[in-house]
Amino acid sequence: MHEFEFIDWIKRQLPKPHADVVLGIGDDCALLDIPHAKQLALSTDSCVEGTHFFTGTDPLAIGYKAAMCNLSDIAAMGATPSWCTLALCLPAWDQQLACGIAQGVLDALAPFGVALVGGDTTRGPLSVNLCIGGYVDSGRTLRRSAAQFADAVFVTGTLGDAGAGLLLRRLERADLSISEAIKLGMDADILPSHRSTLLARLDRPSARVAYAQRIGHLAHAAIDVSDGLLQDLTHVCRQSHVGALLDVASIPLSDALRASFSLSAARGLACTAGDDYELCFTAHPANSAELIAIGKELGVAVAQIGLIQSGSAVECWSSDKVLPVLEREGFQHF
Ligand code: ADP
Ligand code: MG
Repeated sequence: MHEFEFIDWIKRQLPKPHADVVLGIGDDCALLDIPHAKQLALSTDSCVEGTHFFTGTDPLAIGYKAAMCNLSDIAAMGATPSWCTLALCLPAWDQQLACGIAQGVLDALAPFGVALVGGDTTRGPLSVNLCIGGYVDSGRTLRRSAAQFADAVFVTGTLGDAGAGLLLRRLERADLSISEAIKLGMDADILPSHRSTLLARLDRPSARVAYAQRIGHLAHAAIDVSDGLLQDLTHVCRQSHVGALLDVASIPLSDALRASFSLSAARGLACTAGDDYELCFTAHPANSAELIAIGKELGVAVAQIGLIQSGSAVECWSSDKVLPVLEREGFQHF
């Protein structure tokens, strides 16, 4: 199998025709109908070997996570994902790698009914680049610039798990020593079940698409936590010209994280580690009960972790006086 057979193979994997896709894979462009009275939300994200995933990562996991990062951006706008393109760059032809990555992408897209409508397959350093499109009712977008003074700040799920998973993966790869890990607050003995929970959060994140679609009328600003809570919430503050006060004791932590790290280290990961793909959003505090109830209906935990105040930065305090270990605010490429 080579490039063109690979593209035919992808076409055969695709589910039934899609409502807004007039023409999918096979021509110079895809043709799409934009539903009446909707805005198109468009986003692109790259996953590069050595930057976003380690050499030797399971191809299915590479594709799955690449698609999930893109789905998470659509969720963070409050939009409904609809279609995407996949540009794949491989150092040399490798059928197992190409099909594995494409299958991982399709596996992640399937539950959301997102169509793969095109892409590109080229030679070069291993990378997976998706462009994703979704639709949102005009005026219902969750923009970073829309936080309001005295809003409550919320987060879905638990934070810090993927960051802990990354430390465990680095230990496995002898890229981190056990003594360095212990210095970072990790327990010397981590239960196998906790280890697999934390690694799964790193390898198989799930974007909060369904929840985000339900809160467009209740929330003001939103961002997905991909680079660390403090850094991502700082983006919201800057763009909204407000500050935020976080109570780090109220940031939800998983049992696996609490059991495997000191409390201050776990809080440090929750504040600064990336890759959790949870949703951080602001809303009028009066909407809190309804936001939590919608989460309950969908099986998504929703917690209030702070308040929007005047200023321009994110300030942390802790109602139980255990402050997080902060090495940096979050992930930056350069
Ligand atoms: P072009 O020379 O016009 O770029 P290609 O030969 O690259 O055409 O692609 C042929 C068709 O296959 C196009 O419709 C393109 O969108 C699709 N395609 C190519 N690579 C991929 C891929 N990795 N995933 C999905 N569709 C792809
Ligand atoms: Mg091409």
